[in-house]
Amino acid sequence: MFETTIAGSLPKPFWLATPRMLWAPWAQEGEALAEAKRDATLLALKEQEDAGIDIVTDGEQSRHHFVHGFLERLDGIDSAHKVRMGIRDNRYEAECPRIIGPLRRKGPVHAEEAAFARARTRRRLKFTLPGPMTIADTVADSHYGRRADLAMAFAALLNDEARELAAAGIDVIQFDEPAFNVYMREVRDWGIAALHRAAEGLACKTAVHICYGYGIKANIEWKATLGGEWRQYEEIFPALAESRIDQVSLECANSRVPPELMRLLDGKDVLVGAIDVATDRIETPEAVAATLRGALEHVAAERLFPCTNCGMAPLDRAVARGKLKALAAGAALLRRETRRG
Ligand code: ZN
Repeated sequence: MFETTIAGSLPKPFWLATPRMLWAPWAQEGEALAEAKRDATLLALKEQEDAGIDIVTDGEQSRHHFVHGFLERLDGIDSAHKVRMGIRDNRYEAECPRIIGPLRRKGPVHAEEAAFARARTRRRLKFTLPGPMTIADTVADSHYGRRADLAMAFAALLNDEARELAAAGIDVIQFDEPAFNVYMREVRDWGIAALHRAAEGLACKTAVHICYGYGIKANIEWKATLGGEWRQYEEIFPALAESRIDQVSLECANSRVPPELMRLLDGKDVLVGAIDVATDRIETPEAVAATLRGALEHVAAERLFPCTNCGMAPLDRAVARGKLKALAAGAALLRRETRRG
């Protein structure tokens, strides 16, 4: 009961990439970079295990960014001439690669790093991929025209990739869809259909992560405009409850999401964000347990998986380590009191 996991990413060591930033430049190149990625993956696994996390990830140590990592090995994309454009409904600007022709995988994208991680932990291993809607929102399209068509093209490639990862022994494949909290009507129109296409035929567990973003300035300012109650989830959870996705990862710690919205996910595993990634303050186990206790009023105990609000890539490493420990300790507290009760 209350098995812990994380949204996905962990900070990279300074010898792999510049600390405390998104899109951080690599600190190595060539074979030295490949070796540093492997070493950092090993550390990420070990630190999660030591902290007591049950379902671990590779900490996304081998990818530059959660979207761009997947794009780097596709045909039909021009990553050399990026376009600066507003994304997430113009919330902030990013350098986006251009789609210039039909999309195709040149070959497996993450197979090597997934196999490396699989061989080095006995815990259940989750692997994250960007969701089709979020990818479509992070590129400049000069080929497909309709965004739904673009997302569906990505979904087909993601599905090929996900099937290989599942065959390599990955236990949970999670699609990261922060865009689901921004384009709620499109989620119902075609977002879930694209997600289904990406997850089609997977024998492992499937998850979708929907958050209010990393703790960067643009996101913190955006959240300040969302009012006293954040009800974005209300518009998409009923459709997700009817979907074939097994698990939904959501933001809960220090958020203004009304916890009762989790009731809309009846029948799904709920990965409850009990760690705030937008602050360096390390939660106490009691604070984690309090967040989880709030969720437990609306989610069945066997469906509740304590998790982080979002990825921890931009945090300080020591802070992230502290937060991992707090998450596991908070879950343990709740486990004890639930058994007693
Ligand atoms: Zn997130």
